Amino acid sequence: MLYVVRLWSGKCAWIVWCVLGLLAPTVAAPANEVAIEIGSLHDQLVRAPAMFQRAPTDRTLAQLSPDAYQPLTDDDVNQGISDQAFWIRLRLRNSSDRPVRWVLSHETTYLDRLTVHWSDNGGPRQVRALTDRAVFANRSEAYRTLAFAHATPATGYTDLILRLSNDKPDSVSLNLHLAEASVFAAQSRQTYAVYGLYYGALLVLVFVSLAAAWMLRQWVYFHYALFLVASGLMWALLNGLAYQYLWPQAVFWHNEGFHILYLLMAAAAFQFSRSFLFTRQGFPWIDRLIRVGQAVMLAGVVLRFAGVYLPVLVLSYVSLVSLVLLAPLGFMAYRRGQVYARWYALAWVIYGVGLTLSVISASTRWLPWGMESLAFAQAAGVLEALLLLVALGERLSGWDRDRRLALRLAQQDPLTGLTNRRGLVPAYEAFRERYAQTQVPVYLILIDLDYFKNVNDTYGHEAGDRVLVALASLMSRVSRPADVCIRYGGEEFVILLQAPSEDVALDIAERMRQDFAGQPTGHGGCTIQHTLTAGLSPVFSANGQLSLKQALQQADQALYQAKRAGRNQCRAYRPAAQALPRPTRSERGVHDVD
Ligand code: GH3
Ligand code: MG
Ligand code: MG
Repeated sequence: MLYVVRLWSGKCAWIVWCVLGLLAPTVAAPANEVAIEIGSLHDQLVRAPAMFQRAPTDRTLAQLSPDAYQPLTDDDVNQGISDQAFWIRLRLRNSSDRPVRWVLSHETTYLDRLTVHWSDNGGPRQVRALTDRAVFANRSEAYRTLAFAHATPATGYTDLILRLSNDKPDSVSLNLHLAEASVFAAQSRQTYAVYGLYYGALLVLVFVSLAAAWMLRQWVYFHYALFLVASGLMWALLNGLAYQYLWPQAVFWHNEGFHILYLLMAAAAFQFSRSFLFTRQGFPWIDRLIRVGQAVMLAGVVLRFAGVYLPVLVLSYVSLVSLVLLAPLGFMAYRRGQVYARWYALAWVIYGVGLTLSVISASTRWLPWGMESLAFAQAAGVLEALLLLVALGERLSGWDRDRRLALRLAQQDPLTGLTNRRGLVPAYEAFRERYAQTQVPVYLILIDLDYFKNVNDTYGHEAGDRVLVALASLMSRVSRPADVCIRYGGEEFVILLQAPSEDVALDIAERMRQDFAGQPTGHGGCTIQHTLTAGLSPVFSANGQLSLKQALQQADQALYQAKRAGRNQCRAYRPAAQALPRPTRSERGVHDVD
């Protein structure tokens, strides 16, 4: 006895304490309970030796059968759609000599309830019920998914019994993360940074497409923005950020919102597709089907608000999967000549694959269900949105090409290929600028074929056309690149050109006249002799700047003078000529022969 007292209080006491200390974990954790060691915890998934069992939701902890527990393996994590409650039992042992503070968080955002029963070192059991059926502010851990924080005492252990359940049948994942508190905080910061980037980029895209819709006055950009907003909201909810930040007070949206947003996103995607591919014009039957589909989806939204659950849940999954049908629709449009539809089709292939995989993993046990499959679907969504943007860009540039082509064709004479009368005003404006920059005078030459009516009457209209084409090609040959040759009317042509003096401009007209007279046109074995008459007027010169109308009138006056003087000649406008009476066109053609 004396020996024991001496040992206890004497020098050897520390040896006794050391032995007891070494034995402590063994003493604390009974041999029949295998524990997860958290002495040097970083982060890990909760798996066996954790045990789990499923039971009807009305069963209490006391009513559970201890024998029904089985090891929680990777294969058990995805439970598909279930209406059961899941119980997980585990012991965390801390062999270190300091308390370990840890956070247990559930992976998905749509778990309705996580109840944690815990006791330290075999002490009294305590309970905390976590639920997203309460406003967000009531959470003990302000984290986007249900999370529970606790500290296991030094060289001690914590027994945990967890109950996971949904209020209505829904996908159930048993994936729980266990992380040391500071590791959890660091990981959370990273996650939030990635989400910040994602939603920031999404917001920019939304504003850009709204601006494009407004500036280009095209609904398709508005529908694209609508689709982005709907899918952004859907992901914000799936990521748990919607009810952390967007609607922390609205408990209804914590849960019911999922399927409503799935449906709205799908309806928006279909709406975008309708305007992007012009389905109403190109695929009327498919367009009608899509409209029916959209009506059903919107009816699903209404039903969900009215309290209908399971049919809407199924409808929302079907709607999401039905989006993959947009890929073949895109290919069909592509084959019909909508070139930009190839990017659109590819976008939906990618999105379809990502989304289908995640829907399959969420609703069945065929695929593992983890954050990875959801992240995969979300990444596919990013790629998809970008590809749709490329498709929109290609469509826009295609339209710009078509618009330019239409503009060019509208200003081109189909017979001669020269610019037609519509091109005269833009050409005049271009020469005004050139004159302002260079001060080199601008002249207008008006050309009219002589007795062209006779050519038609004698050789036929086709021959007349040939003569017109011959003159047009001669004009193009003789004029310089900067000059503009225009078919002004039937057999009247205009040339706008810059020349240092009136004589130089007249020389150019004269060269054309001579070449035209000297190069008869062959047609059907006949040789058609032809001549032309030209009148010239200054447009912009040191003497003043004329309007197009004035310049044309003056050139016409000069032309008329030349016609009267015997045709087959070129003449510059002289103010004195204005005094002469102006006969009608037919009078000129029929009577004004030398
Ligand atoms: P003038 O020397 O006084 O100009 O006599 P003209 O016969 O050339 O004049 P007029 O204005 O009477 O006749 C013009 C003719 O040009 C009448 C019309 O049939 C012909 N014409 C107008 N456009 C075309 C066309 O595109 N092709 C052909 N083949 N003929 C055309
Ligand atoms: Mg004429
Ligand atoms: Mg004529």
